[in-house]
Amino acid sequence: MRRATKIVATIGPASSDLDTLVRMIRAGVDVVRLNFSHGKAQDHIDRATMVREAAAICGREVAIMADLQGPKIRVGKFENGKIMLVNGEKFILDADCEMGNQDIVGLDYKELPTDLNPDDVLLLNDGLIVLVVDKIIGTAIHTTVRIGGELSNNKGINRQGGGLTAPALTAKDMDDIRTAMSFRADYVAVSFPKNATDMMMARQLANIAGDAQKHRPQMIAKIERAEAIPLLQEILDASDGIMVARGDLAVEVGNAAVPALQKRMIRMARASNKLAITATQMMESMIVNAVPTRAEVSDVANAVLDGTDAVMTSAETASGRYPIETVEMMASVCIEAEKSEDYRLDTDFLNVVFTRIDQSIAYGALFTAHHLQVKAIAALTESASTALWMSRHDINIPIVALTPNLGTQRKASLFRNVTALELTQSEDTDAVLKAAQDLLVAKGFVEKGDMVVLTWGEPMGKVGGTNALKIMRIGEY
Ligand code: PGA
Ligand code: MN
Repeated sequence: MRRATKIVATIGPASSDLDTLVRMIRAGVDVVRLNFSHGKAQDHIDRATMVREAAAICGREVAIMADLQGPKIRVGKFENGKIMLVNGEKFILDADCEMGNQDIVGLDYKELPTDLNPDDVLLLNDGLIVLVVDKIIGTAIHTTVRIGGELSNNKGINRQGGGLTAPALTAKDMDDIRTAMSFRADYVAVSFPKNATDMMMARQLANIAGDAQKHRPQMIAKIERAEAIPLLQEILDASDGIMVARGDLAVEVGNAAVPALQKRMIRMARASNKLAITATQMMESMIVNAVPTRAEVSDVANAVLDGTDAVMTSAETASGRYPIETVEMMASVCIEAEKSEDYRLDTDFLNVVFTRIDQSIAYGALFTAHHLQVKAIAALTESASTALWMSRHDINIPIVALTPNLGTQRKASLFRNVTALELTQSEDTDAVLKAAQDLLVAKGFVEKGDMVVLTWGEPMGKVGGTNALKIMRIGEY
């Protein structure tokens, strides 16, 4: 069953054995996310190796996404591992506190007191606990508990409305970028970027770290800070894609604002020729249950209808009881949701100005494929940029990126409605076009007699050189 929407699965203790990974990939995982908030460098290196092995067993490429921890501010540890906060009680946060108890706990960000004012609202543990700032005395933040609950070691802290100054890239993130480049992570997700500069810095570091391997990863900005919202366009321009990081975002901007923001972010990403991933709590109840709730099914389906490139799992597949079932369920929900879509070209490109030859070919191919109702579009590509342009428009025709480049093949596994396959290019264009047709037949996209649109660059094998389009009937060379 063909599925256009991709699945990003976070792996962890519940999914770090070869057998489970193979079954998850067979169930539909396109991108594996390694969460650098947990585990040591060697754990991620080992997992990356295992992912490549599992993909090889499954006979297809999957991308690896290294998700950096970023400057998430956390409380320290408690004598007994946790405490119970009661509404109305006083509680102190203090970076100088070594070991927490019922009255006070440490902090891993010394500057927090200078970022806060009385009446600021602090949300702990993803917003489950709410504290109101009374006063700041030296390093001590005195608060009153507005909504209590259990608070355990190292839980995260956000301020309602955002505005904390912690820099986007920590020393740990820089180490982690180097680790991720050692195994050529295809995507790097940057946590809590607040502007385009944060993304440019991260990209520069990643490119330097990847230089020895001749590897340049794709950069994903996780949109999870309130102040990133007004700067979304500049952040998009500096990134290859965004993640609608609903967990932290909801804490900063309020739960109710997130669904509309999700739609806007996905729309803006697509219009900017960038990727979008919808993340967090998509199948949350499947951490413990073998079936999702109706609301979760609708959430995944709605993200598909919003035009997301991928839906993502977090704890469901990292530490949950049903990692394989979660992926199977997501895949089937995506397929059904895609059927309900009203596939139409967003426009006839009359109000788009294109300046580039390769972009013109991409749109020309889409337009032609749509009106002739061909069976597939094959984009012969070095960098997958033509496939990316094509995939920014809803069209119920599979886009097949044919590339000699392994990194491109992996990267394109995140693109909505794109299947990336390996195809060697050569000077002999006719022979390559015939090989492309044979591959489309072998992979079941088309049969003899079907029409296809092919795009490529003459001379073959140059990045950004797409300048040719041909409509062919399979079997007629
Ligand atoms: P996280 O990011 O899982 O790394 O916190 C996603 C989110 O905040 O939604
Ligand atoms: Mn987050």
